Amino acid sequence: AKRAGGKRHAFFRKELADQAHRHLALDRDLRAALARGEFQLHYQPKVSLIDQSLEGFEALLRWDKPGFGMISPGEFIPVAEDTGFIVPLGDWVLDEACRQLREWIDRGLEPVPVAVNISPRHLRQRSAEDFRRIIDRHRLSPDLVELEITEGAVMQDMDHALSVLAALKAMGIRVAVDDFGTGHSSLSYLKRLPVTTLKIDRSFVNGVPSEREDNGIVSTIIAMADMLGLDVVAEGVEKQEQANFLRHHNCTLVQGWLTGRPVPAGQAADLLAMRLRR
Ligand code: C2E
Ligand code: CA
Ligand code: CA
Ligand code: CA
Repeated sequence: AKRAGGKRHAFFRKELADQAHRHLALDRDLRAALARGEFQLHYQPKVSLIDQSLEGFEALLRWDKPGFGMISPGEFIPVAEDTGFIVPLGDWVLDEACRQLREWIDRGLEPVPVAVNISPRHLRQRSAEDFRRIIDRHRLSPDLVELEITEGAVMQDMDHALSVLAALKAMGIRVAVDDFGTGHSSLSYLKRLPVTTLKIDRSFVNGVPSEREDNGIVSTIIAMADMLGLDVVAEGVEKQEQANFLRHHNCTLVQGWLTGRPVPAGQAADLLAMRLRR
């Protein structure tokens, strides 16, 4: 028994060492990728179900790794969060989204708000002024920028998060709670959160309208947002039946493959230009 235990111990030690090694290697690659300009943002439209109008974009990170093609954030964000690289990377994302907005404005396009994802560790290490400074650098109105945070990011350091969110709100920077419904928010907690928008997680939208539980959860979140005076966006809308259900329950803002996949900046500019011609 002693031998077996020792073996198992050695096995776990090796697993951990392998994982640490993989993380270190990927961390090194990510830092080099940022320096070489291999990251880019794609933009997914947020669309109104009432008139199909473009109401905003979410900026989504892509790594265009030479020889590998486009690598999705699910594969490297968790490691970047783990090693701390998410902080400079997250600053880059916000700066790049703002730079892009400024370029669109300078080309005469009428801009829509752009949302960027702020990871828990990034939020913990930055103040509202830090975010504001990046937006100011590009001479943008603060209400053109939305920060998407998860419930988990707030829970991890409640005092810091609440003070940052309050300061952001005072500056006019919009804040959305991402993946809403997957965390542990209670109504009383939500009431204290100075945010502007709830984004209903894709996992609930997915089951609508065939799963009774999902119908209940989604319609309750919509009603709750309405009661608290918050905007609500449904994520991951893929089918017309889902859009019909959402519209019927007074959720008119959606983001998903039905109304538009994430596209490179050039195509996002085309969407903005079409909007101008309406
Ligand atoms: P998220 O913030 O929940 O972003 C939405 C994800 O759902 C995106 O995946 C988007 O492409 C995908 N999606 C949108 N509509 C649909 C749909 O109709 N069906 C399905 N099946 N999927 C849809 P993506 O771009 O792979 O990003 C995954 C996650 O990576 C994001 O989830 C976010 O948590 C994280 N992420 C992406 N970009 C950034 C970033 O710049 N910073 C940070 N910290 N995290 C990021
Ligand atoms: Ca998001
Ligand atoms: Ca989300
Ligand atoms: Ca998600």
